[in-house]
Amino acid sequence: MAAHNGARPFLIAGGGIGGLATACALAHKGFPVRVLEQSPEFREVGAGIQLGPNIFRVLERIGLKDTVLADAHIPPGMEMRDALTGKLITRIELGAKSTARFKQPYAVTHRTDIHAAFLNACKSSNLITLENNQRVDSYEDHGDYVTVSLADGSRAEGRALIGCDGMWSAIRERIVGDGKPRVSGHIAYRAVLKRADVPNDLWRPDVVLWAGPRTHFVHYPLRRGELYNLVAVFHSDHYEEGWNAEGSRDLLWQHFKGERPEVLRMLERIETWRMWVLCDREPVKNWSKNRVTLLGDAAHPMLQYLAQGACMATEDAVILSEKIAEQPGDIPAAFIAYQNARYLRTARVQVMARVYGEFYHARGPTAELRDQMLSSRTPQESMDGVAWLYDGP
Ligand SMILES: Cc1cc2nc3c(=O)[nH]c(=O)nc-3n(C[C@H](O)[C@H](O)[C@H](O)COP(=O)(O)OP(=O)(O)OC[C@H]3O[C@@H](n4cnc5c(N)ncnc54)[C@H](O)[C@@H]3O)c2cc1C
Repeated sequence: MAAHNGARPFLIAGGGIGGLATACALAHKGFPVRVLEQSPEFREVGAGIQLGPNIFRVLERIGLKDTVLADAHIPPGMEMRDALTGKLITRIELGAKSTARFKQPYAVTHRTDIHAAFLNACKSSNLITLENNQRVDSYEDHGDYVTVSLADGSRAEGRALIGCDGMWSAIRERIVGDGKPRVSGHIAYRAVLKRADVPNDLWRPDVVLWAGPRTHFVHYPLRRGELYNLVAVFHSDHYEEGWNAEGSRDLLWQHFKGERPEVLRMLERIETWRMWVLCDREPVKNWSKNRVTLLGDAAHPMLQYLAQGACMATEDAVILSEKIAEQPGDIPAAFIAYQNARYLRTARVQVMARVYGEFYHARGPTAELRDQMLSSRTPQESMDGVAWLYDGP
């Protein structure tokens, strides 16, 4: 590992999963980093997250695979069921068979747990400085270094700037300039229950997805099985920025009434739902300009239907650090090499996530077609169908 201690640090705007993964990956290669996060604390919202084998492949390269797995749950399978009839549409084996096929596990974890794994790794590195209450308002690229202006009037100087500032990225506006994200018309309500609050006959070790007309409902265990994650998605034109507004129970019931008792009994358990208005953007090919680049949701925000946004941000982080380490003397070229390595893969996930969303929420003959196509696959074909995603990068 090369030591780059004397050099100006890389500035990272945003300390979510993408920003902290990038700090870990750059420090792993010996580069100093300053993470500037606008919130008073480094924190993730309380909800679950699925981690495909692809994220473990890159986590292994920066020595964090076991740390992330320590608090996770390994589901034996992933099922899709019809929310009106209860019929099993398809099942993908995720335990030993999937690990043997993809050489990495499939896991589910609490967002706080994976974020804390990155945060603790950052705190234990003497190459990483973590700073809160630091909103990046603007930046200037001086050709051979950058400065950013912070909301408190101060400035920070760095070797380059990496915008990990999420879906509503201000840095993206300067580089890509494509305005606000696209509102999908889908809303997610989420909640986390304690294991003891889930009726025994409803608790399942698998990731289970109930596909209904213009709705779907997903549940799976978290934190070594101690918690249970619930996400209910339905169609609505409501728009609100951010990830933490309270959702109306009545609105939820209007969309899910008539679905299977297993679904309704689980929904009944929740008193307070948090709401996410789901947005994405059209894929772009160029998200770097000289010494400034984007990463994670700032670069390629996607709908969550392939459960890959955080996985893609972590892949980005590791590939970016590898490209910089290959040519540390030419950061603009390293940024171009990074985005060239990433844009088609992330674009495919952005595009396919929309297709999966349509499939999950299908009605009438489209739903029948979906059921026919998915249920006729052999277990081998089911795994081959996700190989493009889980075999990378
Ligand atoms: C319902 C739902 C379910 C999901 N499920 C999965 C899943 O199962 N698997 C998966 O891999 N992904 C999943 N995702 C996607 C995943 O959550 C995101 O892709 C991922 O969290 C993006 O991380 P990020 O660091 O790029 O952005 P963010 O998490 O948005 O972090 C951005 C950070 O930047 C900070 N910030 C913003 N502006 C500034 C500024 N100007 N200055 C300083 N700081 C700033 C913010 O405060 C924040 O901390 C899901 C998403 C949703 C909505």
